[in-house]
Amino acid sequence: MVERVRARFAPSPTGLLHIGNVHTALFTWLFVRHHGGEFILRIEDTDRERSTAEYERLILEDLKWLGLDWDEGVDIGGPYGPYRQTERMQIYREYAELLLARGWAYYCYCTPEELAADRARSAALGEPPRYSGRCRNLTAAERAALEAEGRQPVLRFKTPPGEVVVVKDLLRGEISFNTDDLDDFVLVRSNGVPLYNFAVTVDDLTMKITHIVRADEHISNTPRQILIYRALEAEPPEFAHVSMLLGPDRSKLSKRHGATSLREYKEKGYLPEAIFNYLATLGWSLPDDREIADREELIRLFDLSRVSRSPAVFDPEKAAWMNGVYLRQADLTVLTELALPYLREAGLLSEGAPVDLDWLQRVVDIGREGISCLSELPAAVELFFTAQPDYDREALAILAHEGVREILRRFRDSIATWDDFNPEAVREAMKEVPRAMGLGLGKAFKPLRVALTGRVSGPELYQVISLFGRDKVLARLDYVTDHLLTE
Ligand code: GLU
Ligand code: ZN
Repeated sequence: MVERVRARFAPSPTGLLHIGNVHTALFTWLFVRHHGGEFILRIEDTDRERSTAEYERLILEDLKWLGLDWDEGVDIGGPYGPYRQTERMQIYREYAELLLARGWAYYCYCTPEELAADRARSAALGEPPRYSGRCRNLTAAERAALEAEGRQPVLRFKTPPGEVVVVKDLLRGEISFNTDDLDDFVLVRSNGVPLYNFAVTVDDLTMKITHIVRADEHISNTPRQILIYRALEAEPPEFAHVSMLLGPDRSKLSKRHGATSLREYKEKGYLPEAIFNYLATLGWSLPDDREIADREELIRLFDLSRVSRSPAVFDPEKAAWMNGVYLRQADLTVLTELALPYLREAGLLSEGAPVDLDWLQRVVDIGREGISCLSELPAAVELFFTAQPDYDREALAILAHEGVREILRRFRDSIATWDDFNPEAVREAMKEVPRAMGLGLGKAFKPLRVALTGRVSGPELYQVISLFGRDKVLARLDYVTDHLLTE
């Protein structure tokens, strides 16, 4: 029987979505969508000190921005809800009762001091810290006595000794664990809050998850979860542990490597399609080693079994490069809309003031050529918004070169006669002056660029002239000739 794939992403709302988590979520999502299954968004908020409703809201917003939609989840519900762990306490209590009734769990009344003393004893003997088993076989009378002292017990799993638990990982093959190393781990805290391994197993079981795709940091938790499935007489799902991303220096991806949250990339003006495409190719590759593919194609081609076991490197420069590719192929109307907040923020446009949309689209079109994210756009296109550029030292030095006055005069005379300012017409017409003067194109264009823009580099000069139009070009040439030329 081919069962329908159900996989989940289960973030804890204790911070912004880390790019590494997003990578795992994306692989899970691609796997589900490839198989036409269901993607479930569960919020693991049992850490009440660090979880906030605001982080939960931002996580949902950022996943939506990236286009990772879900079929069941906290906000939309579904047949196996609730999908927020703090709302599932009754379910955990029922399963705890079941484990107790079947003899797979027991109450432990040890105080923190007793446990610390046990750990110190193990350490002195050079043994790994392990629960002593003190409360494993308490009689009802002993339990009653400890409770009479006011002790609040934790619930521990009764791990069977001397067994081997095999994790069958879809990416890594079989990984064996000896139960003697797993300890009688805690299922539920004394305040009734379940711990990760217990809550996640109950959730995955009751939500009918078929495939657990998650970060490899959870491999060591998996044998404990398998033991709980077994104790509940349930079949564990399939597991696939994806390697965590590294930074370019091959250390764990962190702040040192630049932006690490998805939101920072969004705010810098990355396009979701670009991040989606880039993350999909980390630790997995398109069959023909292509790098650019759209969402539909990635869904069609994605193959979980081909995901690499070794960690992939998240290279911010490569991400920037890919975003540039996407910026240049984006629909211009959409991109201009996305660019507006950045241009406003930089003070180039004011809120509510009328803008010539055709003109603005041309500006964005020219500006996107040389940038890798939208937050770089204002600096690239500022020259189109200012009445008069600032001429920096480098620019003034070029204007001081011998012959510049003559070159600019000739350009002025020529441009005054042009009546077609379309980019292609300008590109051709610009060559007349250098030809007539017997000058190389670069030699003639450099002072012209500086005179018009105040800088030595920037967007293509013919584009600048085309966008400025005759009056603005002539005015700037006159200003430079009258005020800045020394020769
Ligand atoms: N809340 C856990 C985490 O973010 C989920 C782990 C899992 O997928 O089992 O690491
Ligand atoms: Zn105990």
